[in-house]
Amino acid sequence: MTDVDVLVVGGGPGGTPTAMALASSGRRVLLVEKGAGLGGTCLFEGCIPSKILHESASRLQAIRRAQEFGIKIPAGDVAVDWDVIMQRKATVLQHRAAGALQHARSIPTLTVQFGEATLLGPRRARITPHGGKPEEILFGSAVIATGSVPRSLPIPGIDLPQVLTSEQLLDIKRLPKRLVGMGGGPIGVEMAQIFAVFGCAVTVIENGPRILAPVDDEIAVALQGHFRAQGIGLDAGAQVLGVVGKGDGVAVQYRDAAGAQHEAEADIVLEATGRHPNVDGLGLESTAVRFDQHGVKVGDTLETDEPGIYAVGDVIGHPMFAHWATAQGLALARHLLGKPTRFPMPAINSAVIFSMPEVAIAGLTEKEALAAGHDVGIARYDYRVDARAQVSGHAEGILKLVYDKTSRAVLGVHILAEGAASLLGEGALAVATHVPIEAMAAAIHPHPTLSESMGLAARGVLAAAH
Ligand code: FAD
Repeated sequence: MTDVDVLVVGGGPGGTPTAMALASSGRRVLLVEKGAGLGGTCLFEGCIPSKILHESASRLQAIRRAQEFGIKIPAGDVAVDWDVIMQRKATVLQHRAAGALQHARSIPTLTVQFGEATLLGPRRARITPHGGKPEEILFGSAVIATGSVPRSLPIPGIDLPQVLTSEQLLDIKRLPKRLVGMGGGPIGVEMAQIFAVFGCAVTVIENGPRILAPVDDEIAVALQGHFRAQGIGLDAGAQVLGVVGKGDGVAVQYRDAAGAQHEAEADIVLEATGRHPNVDGLGLESTAVRFDQHGVKVGDTLETDEPGIYAVGDVIGHPMFAHWATAQGLALARHLLGKPTRFPMPAINSAVIFSMPEVAIAGLTEKEALAAGHDVGIARYDYRVDARAQVSGHAEGILKLVYDKTSRAVLGVHILAEGAASLLGEGALAVATHVPIEAMAAAIHPHPTLSESMGLAARGVLAAAH
């Protein structure tokens, strides 16, 4: 029976960096991945494929505005070649998966096994390689990084072939004419705007009072304005009742906030109503690990109730982001190597929603900061006056810096702007290191860049105080 120091189950952004960090320090690590390559949901079904579609949609939008920038394109010459987009996606995915595997295989004490891991007890697991015979192994500790799977609504018609998960939508063979999205979270929002740019008639049905529940109110409401301008139908506060076949496609039946019943017709329905932790078939019942529909239960050091078994990433619940899973995994690796470790705190997490324009968030919203007892101040900036935004033809959007008026520390950065994703690094650093608003104002931001907005917003607060 093989004996390893650490068994890592799941080769996504949580498990892979954990395994690499531990093995790079000499631990004998076995990384088991059920899929065909390393990368997890993020690489094969999530972050990267959705951003490849977003990239094509952004370029298409830019081309449509070419005339405005003095570039002539003969009318009628711009069209989407879906097969090429899908081929490009496959190439990028293969390249990234191969790079990750090559890196993993270069670490002498790391073994990557493609197959399924099932725990048989607190220190024993069965590994079933793809196409091979099951083998039992012993491990010193284990890290569960098995991610999450789409949640399905318990409504009639949900099994119809036209109802797709985001993973299936990212792999369709041709563009639909009509798309109905159930759910206005990050995945639903990104997909709605991408497919609308590609020319689909899109409707989003959202259960909550507005899209993007955890995002700053003003920013989410402003993004809804962009939905309207883009011609995307949005019904918020609505409850989906079922999906029925209709003509060549289907109709999503729902009740709106006022109680009236409607039907939204579609060729394809995206079910983006959330994800739940993936614990099926893992054998957790053979251990003391506790879990429920929100995920595997862990303590401050990411250890489960079974000493020596840890969990990172989507499998322990929200927030569900690739960089969050990686941050947890790297912190856990340090901890298991006996190094002093600060585990990531949700209050300093960052996130980008690749909407159009983009939403970028670091740290606390105004509401969260107030709830946490801070003496909250807000520094604002309007991208209508921004030099770079005017040059690029995207002179719209908001920046809000949330800070503590007593400690002066920046607690949150919230941006709605085209290019917000690339701006957020500074915001994430400011929030993580409690940068004072005065330091943000004093930093010399290069002109003309969107990053100037950070300094200008902070300087606005200081000017108002004098
Ligand atoms: P996963 O990436 O899900 O990896 C878990 C792995 O475990 C999988 O590869 C699975 O095959 C394997 N596994 C499961 N069970 C077993 C078993 N028994 N044995 C062996 N292997 C097993 N996040 C961002 O930060 N930015 C984005 O832009 C973004 N966009 C997204 C878009 C979409 C459409 C989706 C669906 C998600 C997106 N996410 C994004 C979220 C991101 O993909 C996840 O948060 C991230 O992948 C979680 O990493 P993880 O390692 O916890 O799990």
